[in-house]
Amino acid sequence: MVNGYSFIDKDLSIAASRRAAKDTGGSRNEYESEQAMSAQLVEPKPTWASQVIKRDEVTRYLQDGRDFIDDAALEAQLASAKPDPVRVRDILQKSLAIETLTTEETATLLSVSDEALWDEMYDVAAQVKKKVYDNRVVTFAPIYCSDLCVNNCLYCGFRAGNSGIKRRCLTMEEIAREAEVLAGQIGHKRLILVFGEHPRTDARYIAEAMRTVYAVEVPTRTGSSTGIRRLNINAAPMSIDDLRLLKEVGLGTFQVFQETYHHDTYAKLHPNGTVKSDYAWRITCMHRAMEAGVDDVGIGALFGLYDWRFEVMGLVAHAHELEARFGIGPHTISFPRLTPALDTPFVQETRYRVSDKEFKRLVCVIRLSVPYTGMIITVRERPDVIRECIPMCTQRDASTRIGVGAYQDEYEQQEADRQQFTLGDTTSLDSVIRELAEMGYITSFCTAGYRCGRTGNHIMDLLRSGKEGCFCKLNAILTFREWLDDFASPETAKAGERIIQKEIEETRDKVPEKLFRQLMAYYERTSRGEKDLYF
Ligand code: SAM
Ligand code: SF4
Repeated sequence: MVNGYSFIDKDLSIAASRRAAKDTGGSRNEYESEQAMSAQLVEPKPTWASQVIKRDEVTRYLQDGRDFIDDAALEAQLASAKPDPVRVRDILQKSLAIETLTTEETATLLSVSDEALWDEMYDVAAQVKKKVYDNRVVTFAPIYCSDLCVNNCLYCGFRAGNSGIKRRCLTMEEIAREAEVLAGQIGHKRLILVFGEHPRTDARYIAEAMRTVYAVEVPTRTGSSTGIRRLNINAAPMSIDDLRLLKEVGLGTFQVFQETYHHDTYAKLHPNGTVKSDYAWRITCMHRAMEAGVDDVGIGALFGLYDWRFEVMGLVAHAHELEARFGIGPHTISFPRLTPALDTPFVQETRYRVSDKEFKRLVCVIRLSVPYTGMIITVRERPDVIRECIPMCTQRDASTRIGVGAYQDEYEQQEADRQQFTLGDTTSLDSVIRELAEMGYITSFCTAGYRCGRTGNHIMDLLRSGKEGCFCKLNAILTFREWLDDFASPETAKAGERIIQKEIEETRDKVPEKLFRQLMAYYERTSRGEKDLYF
């Protein structure tokens, strides 16, 4: 079978049995018989991969059999764009009015070469972020639950053909232990669970993992227990039924990156016959999410696979498509940059590597083009790059480990042979929060949004009108108070105290008196150790 899973799984089984034979000092004959067994095992059964894609859940979103990314049209807009400063400044006014830019306007911004004009654009991008999200930064951490994967994405250390990686799929107990470390020792309230695509980690496994993490409760310094309050998922595209299941167990944001919006490049990087090779299944995954009622969706592109300007255009076109069809744009946009991965030569060979300067530019244009969206920068980036970009972003991870099972005590060291890629920044959450506070940002652990129904178009309207900022500011103060008392080191507590007092003073002037009094009542209760009070 050359199609999809059976073929790849056979490779995986062989690699696994080869390792097992090596690990146990097994003889050549043992290895040969295992190899024969794995070959027999895969022959007759219908392929799992061939059943993943529900064709009717793709075609209904296509027009004349085509998806909404028109490569030629986007390329043409990029080629014809002119960086006229007057026009650029008009476009910046539109961003400041929190209106989504057209792809043609995005192309104009991307065509700018004048450094002084870019500096103006960075300033406006930071103003836009402040207008919608004020000085808040949300922090989270990923749990890599499994690196089993049937796909063969050329750029990824988890790809099925990579026999250099030690594979692991966490049990529910192990997932609970990961969450206990993150919630109990570090103080995270918001996690993203990450999965390869594999029959062992299908939607039922993912749902079970979510239930397991939500059930974790850990003691805190101030007495009462705490846990994880928002779970996002980064996983392969799913069917509507599977997404409904995840919604039922409390899915926050469903995050899937298109990797590259460029059809030909996509085809080259995702070998034919794998589930992931189906561009249309992937580009319509957020349509299915919306249909399943999951209206906080996170899109993204992996920068370094194709021309960065084209990918920005693709992201903006994707936002338009979701806005036009469902009235709801992406809750978040991610812009991971390709980083080295074990035994993954593609990363060194790509012609489209993105420099730091280009990276800052792409962050800026995304912020200006989709002004209401959350923007996530991750520790794939070095601390200095994160520092430069944070004024335009809303979320970052911290204390991150990307080995499967890496948070647990016995895996305290990052192990290169269990990682999908390498990290640029391994700073602890405590240090990140201190640095943010010193830069004038308050870290928000607010997870109220999806629990009060402020998702999808409710949140979109609030964000566009600036009203969401009010709830978020109050909740940032309460959740930051909680974190400072439970987890902060003495130095971080000092820096945090300064910022929280400043926020309280600002709030006094901004919200009605009655609301301010209620905030202070909640604040007092939180200071006495009560948990999870929010507006
Ligand atoms: N398997 C799922 C999928 O592919 O959608 C989700 C998990 S995958 C581990 C999460 C993301 O990691 C991918 O969507 C890709 O953008 C990113 N990624 C893969 N290889 C990478 C690399 N070498 N450097 C940086 N990011 C990478
Ligand atoms: Fe698998 Fe996702 Fe990595 Fe591709 S990017 S190999 S689908 S884990």
